[in-house]
Amino acid sequence: MPTPQTLFDPPRRPRPPRAAKRAALVATDPGLSEKALLVHRRLCPVYGCPISYFHALDPLSELVSSLLSHRTRNADSGRAFKALRSRYPGWEDVIAAPTAEVEEAIHGVRWPEQKAPRIQSSLRAVKDRTGTLSLDFLAEMSVDAARAWLQEIPGVGPKTSAAVLSFSVLRMPALPVDSHHHRVAQRLGLIGPEVEVGPSHPILRAQLPADWSAQDLYDNHEVLMLHGQKICHHRAPACGACVLADICPSAFAVR
Ligand code: SF4
Repeated sequence: MPTPQTLFDPPRRPRPPRAAKRAALVATDPGLSEKALLVHRRLCPVYGCPISYFHALDPLSELVSSLLSHRTRNADSGRAFKALRSRYPGWEDVIAAPTAEVEEAIHGVRWPEQKAPRIQSSLRAVKDRTGTLSLDFLAEMSVDAARAWLQEIPGVGPKTSAAVLSFSVLRMPALPVDSHHHRVAQRLGLIGPEVEVGPSHPILRAQLPADWSAQDLYDNHEVLMLHGQKICHHRAPACGACVLADICPSAFAVR
């Protein structure tokens, strides 16, 4: 059974010195920046950049949505989010509700027994720290500062903080990395084999132009994620149908 920490963002494990050194090398290799751009340019026509945003939620709602979505199909987390919104008039009511009732409302997601108390504690943390139930103030902060603020909430790590800034109506230039995105980046050699999802965030962001817009970074995340879902499957990737096969060190080598 995963712990609440592993549920919402990958656990931070101490990294062996050699792996840390390799991660630093990946982050600063200009050849990898060129490759990351090439990957983006090849995948964008395939998946249709600019890609429409799938949400237009305020950032606090996006935080709840993101907490619901971990290891859960989009359709199921979307239904659970709607169930919460229809059962409770406001997020204040979710905090005040019996946890078992919140758990029942979100029963269609994976691990509702862990997500219900996590959602309540995250909402409570926002209220305790700001006096309100809103994250709209993040719009006035830099991306790094906003992400650091969010990651002080227990259970919120790099993926969730980037999702809140990128997917919500804030539309801030942050790069989320989910498991599909991470797998494709690893197979392409953009990140080393030991680099986990959490630590991959700054490495993959650093490979892309610093002045990229929120839409550019969103597109980058989406095309890599979609490629992982449709072609570069966890098992038996369809390398024969992949537009990246000639630049991929893992082509035809993964079963
Ligand atoms: S060539 Fe194969 S392993 Fe490499 S990115 Fe494409 S599908 Fe994935």
